[in-house]
Amino acid sequence: MEQVIGRNLQRVREEIARAARRAGRDPAEIKIVAVSKGVPVAAVRTAQALGLTAFGESRVQEFVRKYREIGDQVEWHFIGYLQRNKVKYLLGRVQLIHSLDRWNLAVELDRRGVKRGVVFDVLVQVNIAREPGKHGLYEEEVRDFLAAAADLAGVRVRGLMTLAPYVQDPEEARPVFRRLRELAGRCRDVPGVMMEFLSMGMTQDFAVAVEEGANLVRIGTAIFGFRE
Ligand SMILES: *Cc1c(COP(=O)(O)O)cnc(C)c1O
Repeated sequence: MEQVIGRNLQRVREEIARAARRAGRDPAEIKIVAVSKGVPVAAVRTAQALGLTAFGESRVQEFVRKYREIGDQVEWHFIGYLQRNKVKYLLGRVQLIHSLDRWNLAVELDRRGVKRGVVFDVLVQVNIAREPGKHGLYEEEVRDFLAAAADLAGVRVRGLMTLAPYVQDPEEARPVFRRLRELAGRCRDVPGVMMEFLSMGMTQDFAVAVEEGANLVRIGTAIFGFRE
């Protein structure tokens, strides 16, 4: 397992570095969030030993199970759809929630955060491609959402996240990533909002996302192999 993950990771790192250089960027700006959903704890530990520090989970129950074993030895990111009644399980345990996609979730994060005296760092998820059935705000809703979120003491917006449509040729995802970057640029002047992070790119399309400015890439399959 260690050899396979090690080889995969080396390939991913090289590809990120090449993509960064093509775009005139410093590869060190780009952080890998290793998506460990469906992956056993032992593989997380292996990946950690190979130098990965951030791990992404998309189901609360699975996250809680892994957190019980691994705790704060790694940095946890929550990247999936989050039900309001599950927010309590993430309190004080996750570094960043990538998937704030609706106002009532922001309110619940704020309520729980304030009650416990912690601030949730979050990214706002944007459905750039306007795919039906996909989560996330539409582009034109983002500015108002950010302005309103700036008043929530328990929530700190640190950037934006998107999922590109599944396409055969990753080049087709490029306009989606570009539009997220441009949207972040237009939102920098919203008072009280930070636009440090652009979370975009997965196994299929991370090289294109890096060329378009991603600084968080969420990669599962290319590192761990296929999931259960
Ligand atoms: C599963 C998942 C990923 C990683 O997918 P891979 O194709 O395995 O790299 C990234 N982002 C989100 C939101 C996911 O649910």
